[in-house]
Amino acid sequence: MPKIYYEKDANLDLIRGKTIGIIGFGSQGHAHALNLRDSGMNVMVGLYPGSKSWQQAQQSGVRVGTVEEVAREADIIMMLAPDQVQKKIYDESVAQGLRAGKMLMFAHGFNIHYNQIMPPPDVDVTMIAPKAPGHKVREMFVEGIGVPAIIAVHQNATENAKDVALAYGRGIGSAKAGIIETTFEEETETDLFGEQVVLCGGVTSLVKTAFETLVQAGYQPEIAYFECMHELKLLVDMMHEGGMAYMRYSISDTAEYGDYTRGPKVIDDHVRQNMKQVLQNIRSGAFAREWILENQAGRPSFLALRRQNADHMIEKVGSDLRGMMPWLKAGKPAAAGGPAAATQPVAPVASPAPQPAYSTQPPPEASAPLRERLYSSQETPPPATQPPLRPSIPVTGFGTSLDDDSQSTSQQQLPPSGNDSAQRPSF
Ligand code: NAP
Ligand code: MG
Repeated sequence: MPKIYYEKDANLDLIRGKTIGIIGFGSQGHAHALNLRDSGMNVMVGLYPGSKSWQQAQQSGVRVGTVEEVAREADIIMMLAPDQVQKKIYDESVAQGLRAGKMLMFAHGFNIHYNQIMPPPDVDVTMIAPKAPGHKVREMFVEGIGVPAIIAVHQNATENAKDVALAYGRGIGSAKAGIIETTFEEETETDLFGEQVVLCGGVTSLVKTAFETLVQAGYQPEIAYFECMHELKLLVDMMHEGGMAYMRYSISDTAEYGDYTRGPKVIDDHVRQNMKQVLQNIRSGAFAREWILENQAGRPSFLALRRQNADHMIEKVGSDLRGMMPWLKAGKPAAAGGPAAATQPVAPVASPAPQPAYSTQPPPEASAPLRERLYSSQETPPPATQPPLRPSIPVTGFGTSLDDDSQSTSQQQLPPSGNDSAQRPSF
């Protein structure tokens, strides 16, 4: 079992008299700054002159200064600018403000783990990373709940680093939900692995390959899009809410049998070997080196790949089909040059969700909650998890944590075994 800390383990007095400098006022930055301020802490936000976040931070009532000013004044400095610019910000503006006994903090370990930022040995270096996008970190704090976070200590110069970081974690609300102990190494490597193999790379490649297989076999691209991409959200939402068993409880027996028998044929041992290779590349630093060099060279391959992928048939077909579904707010794919649309949170879908494959249930009521729409009238749905489904933010940029908005504190109660097949709808 991992070590998990709660409010009783975190003493806010350790940071009460200190100045906390938050570098950046984006997704995470605004949430950390406002939550700490509302916890009674002395907060300053550091930005570059001309930043579009400057006025926003000022309007929300926190003190704003340049990164240099904040690094000089603050006892605790949390780096919440994009990961790929943190080294430059650190070298040019933060390092000079560090003094013995200060604490440098991160919400993602890439720059420390891969030696992009090398702080002097007399400062503490820690991580508090909420496991949710920034808007959720703020929203849950305001609701008095808090999102789970992870904590790690890289340098413990004061011999008090973990306690101070825990106090920070409590200040942003996370000690209410639980703060799990990890290391910079584990956080960085598992984060990269997850996004490469499953969350971003794995899922998009799986969907694209399946789509191409159907289209090459002569099926209509529009139908292939619905079957291989559009319906994915429904299944993922259910797994997110209640695990794989909850999802499998709602699909037809045919779909479930195909899942057990055909899934492992697609994701076979050869894929496992590939995953091991990807992990090896992360652990050796080969991936980090490649990505850092790519950035230094002005991102030629990255931009070409972005353009190529945006031009794939599945994106064009999808864009047209999403035009038929006005409730899908993001609508158009991001332009090849920038992730504009994709970086915005997607509003909750208020309209009927698609039915699982082969469902014979009647069309859903627009007002019925998703989970109720998934069951026929004679079937009792398992209890709902709280809170209801919420949107999540897609991810861009290097090293950015793709953190979902899961409320992992709530446990989905699964349906009792043995009450299924007889009552399930058949087709
Ligand atoms: P973000 O939303 O992109 O925000 C970045 C902020 O930094 C913006 O306010 C930006 O200002 C500012 N900034 C950019 N360049 C700067 C510079 N040179 N000097 C000072 N400020 C600068 O970033 P984020 O997603 O919150 O990510 C921050 C950190 O949190 C990263 O380490 C990331 O891995 C980690 N993290 C993110 C999430 C998440 O859900 N997003 C979850 C866990 C951890 P402008 O508005 O002017 O561009
Ligand atoms: Mg990630």
